[in-house]
Amino acid sequence: MQDIKKDIKSMTLSELKEDMESIGEKSFRAGQIYEWMHVKLVRGFDEMTNISKGLKEKCKERYDFTNLKEVRMQESKIDGTKKFLFELADGNMVESVWMKYKHGNSVCISSQVGCRMGCAFCASTLDGLERSLLPSEMLDQIYSIVLLTGEKVSNVVVMGTGEPMDNYDNVLRFIRLITNEDGLHISQRNITVSTCGIVPEMRKLAGEKLQITLALSLHATTDEKRRRLMPIANRYGLDELIEACAYYFKETGRRITFEYSLVGGVNDTEEDARELVGLIRSLNCHVNLIPVNPIKERDFVSSTHEKVVAFKNKLEKNGINVTIRREMGRDIDGACGQLRRKAIASKDANNGCHQ
Ligand code: SAH
Repeated sequence: MQDIKKDIKSMTLSELKEDMESIGEKSFRAGQIYEWMHVKLVRGFDEMTNISKGLKEKCKERYDFTNLKEVRMQESKIDGTKKFLFELADGNMVESVWMKYKHGNSVCISSQVGCRMGCAFCASTLDGLERSLLPSEMLDQIYSIVLLTGEKVSNVVVMGTGEPMDNYDNVLRFIRLITNEDGLHISQRNITVSTCGIVPEMRKLAGEKLQITLALSLHATTDEKRRRLMPIANRYGLDELIEACAYYFKETGRRITFEYSLVGGVNDTEEDARELVGLIRSLNCHVNLIPVNPIKERDFVSSTHEKVVAFKNKLEKNGINVTIRREMGRDIDGACGQLRRKAIASKDANNGCHQ
């Protein structure tokens, strides 16, 4: 017997076919098992009714079948957004969010347990990085939400806890699996990956020629200001970051989204808006303004509504495509990482009890 079991949900259909053949099974079995996992979303081999008992036992010995446990769910009374806290097999916890939009349902998933990027306003990074998630564990967040809500999902945003470009291979594999026509078959165009700006990986992603949207968390218009908010700015300057965005558009034809979290008195002045125009005007892009969601561990405040609107107008006047992000689920610990932190704190206090 092998020491480490294979993570079956992270395997592509052709890998699974090969593996089935290597243990003397017919390759069509792989197709059946793949469909049970990625279309029917079963939670274990025992639910696969057209698979023989013998093969089920073989599979249990050979493969790990990941599943998430729902620990908590909070539903917004304002907009119906649901925030889930899930427990992974090793006891770690991740957050995922389900949002209902006019154009379809969207799930925001985490790509890591914690984060090591250290952005000043973000709750997910306060305890550093615990570990990266497997492709299967990213899929599981979506599969569990589909099962729990009974609703279809058409959009996926990799914008929860973690830095996707710091878990590149697993995120890429996840994208290939979730968009695969033999699985949930979500359109590549309906997938957005958000990065704090790890330039080499952004360029590598451009080379994959996917039709996904790349969102860049910009948040500042000068290197000096950006370094104060985002430690990653010490490694990559704005010049090379903007160049990497232009390259992504050139290679994929996909318009870049710039995320800009407005922090009161820090990056929300007229001058900031003017500088932002100068920085991105040559690019085919879209700006998403996010009034910062204050976290209690830091003393950042959100920009006033007037400032947000003035900022938006300034960009629009200069021909830049801009939206203000709808603040989904503000009443349910909306900011990334808040729910998980709260749960960990209460778990410690209650000696392992989640209640
Ligand atoms: N690591 C990735 C994705 C996760 S964060 C990235 O940096 O893009 C998703 C988005 O939420 C990023 O733009 C991030 O900067 C922003 N964000 C994090 N905490 C926030 C907060 N408290 N208020 C507003 N935006 C926040």
